[in-house]
Amino acid sequence: QTFEELGLDPRLVRALIKKGIEKPTPIQRVAIPFILEGKDVVARAKTGSGKTLAYLLPLLQKLFSDSGLKNKLAPAAFVLVPTRELCQQVYSQVLWLIELCRVQLKVVQLSSSMTPSDLRAALAGPPDILVSTPACIPKCLSAGILQTTAINDSLDILVLDEADLLLSYGYEDDLKALTVHVPRRCQCLLMSATSSADVEKLKKLILHNPYILTL
Ligand code: AMP
Repeated sequence: QTFEELGLDPRLVRALIKKGIEKPTPIQRVAIPFILEGKDVVARAKTGSGKTLAYLLPLLQKLFSDSGLKNKLAPAAFVLVPTRELCQQVYSQVLWLIELCRVQLKVVQLSSSMTPSDLRAALAGPPDILVSTPACIPKCLSAGILQTTAINDSLDILVLDEADLLLSYGYEDDLKALTVHVPRRCQCLLMSATSSADVEKLKKLILHNPYILTL
């Protein structure tokens, strides 16, 4: 199966080819069609399996069709990751995809070393996609940089990447501070290398009748 056959936008397919990526990995073959359909998904996927593109490609495609339609006051997509390194990796993958697709989407990454004024500047606009560790979210909420009503109006996709690590690194309270404001219509994607009690807990906290994809 090709990326085109999975239903991906030709702009994304061309961007992938420019990067030498021509054939979907198993997790991409399974996850992309479900995510494009708007389903909540729990996917068991390790680093190196192509899991980042498995969620980023359909996420971007969803934003292609939404962009410009709404006057958003908060990002349409949040990608939450457990470490600063992963944040940087995801951010750079989003950047090259946006550049090669020539679409008007803005992505920012937040880091815990940012001051409130850095955070305010990063979220001014606002960007379409936010990549961050969970700790930045309550910081933005309490400083009034992100409004809960704006999140409720704008958020369309929430990704928890390496979900098994998000809880073991102590981000549960930070995630709870956000998840109470996640609207029902928001599509939630949970990527995890393992299926643990922590992942089950997150699943119950955030997802609605998810499709469980294991390989
Ligand atoms: P990840 O599992 O998301 O950490 O991805 C690992 C690496 O595989 C990244 O450098 C990706 O750019 C690359 N990659 C992702 N999908 C594919 C694919 N379908 N074919 C070849 N390389 C890929």
